[in-house]
Amino acid sequence: MIKEFCGRRAGLLLCACLAMAGLSGCAAYKEIDLTNGQETVSGREAGDIKRQNGGEAAQGESAGAPGDGIVTHSVTLEDERSAMAADGEAVADVSSLDSGITMANGFTEVDETVVITQDLVNVRAGCGTEYEVVTQLNRGDSVKRTGYSDGWSRILYKDRTCYVLSEFVMKAGASGPADGWAESVSAFENGEAAPARSIEAPAAFNGRIIAIDAGHQTKANPEKEPIGPGSSTMKAKVEAGGEGVSTGIPEYKLTLAVAFKVKRILEERGYQVVMIRESNDVNLSNAKRAEMANRSGASVLVRIHANSLDNATVHGTLSMCQTANNPYNGDLHSQSYSLSKKVTDSICAATGFKNRGVQETDTMSCINWSEIPVTHVEMGFMSNPEEDQKMAQDEYQELIAGGIANGIDAYFAE
Ligand SMILES: [Zn+2]
Repeated sequence: MIKEFCGRRAGLLLCACLAMAGLSGCAAYKEIDLTNGQETVSGREAGDIKRQNGGEAAQGESAGAPGDGIVTHSVTLEDERSAMAADGEAVADVSSLDSGITMANGFTEVDETVVITQDLVNVRAGCGTEYEVVTQLNRGDSVKRTGYSDGWSRILYKDRTCYVLSEFVMKAGASGPADGWAESVSAFENGEAAPARSIEAPAAFNGRIIAIDAGHQTKANPEKEPIGPGSSTMKAKVEAGGEGVSTGIPEYKLTLAVAFKVKRILEERGYQVVMIRESNDVNLSNAKRAEMANRSGASVLVRIHANSLDNATVHGTLSMCQTANNPYNGDLHSQSYSLSKKVTDSICAATGFKNRGVQETDTMSCINWSEIPVTHVEMGFMSNPEEDQKMAQDEYQELIAGGIANGIDAYFAE
């Protein structure tokens, strides 16, 4: 379900209904990929999966039909409160941040290379889903982009001007949305100046997308959800998480700090990273986190956690995955096990932490809801004073993050 906060509410809801019925006659709002049955919402920013999380996405949208000379952008925000604040307002002019020139046809002119982020992306003759499909491009293909407008990118395909939905492209080497909008909004909200563009040569996209889920969040959510698709066994949506016995650091802060380091390292190696959360103040159930990863185009989901026990002497790294008999995704067991083992081994090699191996369990909602190979990493024990102290240090977080990245490398090298 997509909430709308603009004057087009009725029309957009209709579009959503049409789309659910398998129709694609509603230009610029929804495009159904009939090839694989995947449903996506168009017109939003590339690589941003928050909008696809089935109810928490919100869009603040201005008018700005092509031809009115105004480039408008949609803002994807994490909660309804902030979405309302952005209702219908242009929060910032991304074109000035992006050094682009807004032309009278509504397109911001650019000259850059973008990479396709999913398979079977339709390349159309015109800017709208009613136009003919010229060809389909696949994940990792790169094309020249000459402009973008609300939701659409204008590209050159064999010297022909064509259009793709911006959500399926990403600037070569970038980790965020293709037109930089989300990062500029977030800087704006933080009262910061517009971010400087990186001038470092970016690593070439290696064609692999990794979903990273930093465990927990500021507040636990004791509401219940099924432990797996169709299950009658219920479990809390998000548990509170642990706390450093010596440092007092909450697990949700530690996991996010390490997650950001993993993201940076993976991007340096050419991966594209989808962060399930980038702030602590979210409300994302474990099932929802898995669903976000499922829809992100990621090849694997890596969940980052830290362990706690009543026994303060227990220490070391372990990871979890499903059993081969898991009723929801047992077919992913061998891949998940391999990923788990390689990540655990690599963390221990990097940090010297005790290797506690891979545990197989079918009681974890986020594992059970995952449709891609998944590992749940417990970096170390926050209930062990020594390990708690180490994990709080930037240097150890770098080692752990590097270990996770090495494990991911090793998984794909197999
Ligand atoms: Zn945890």
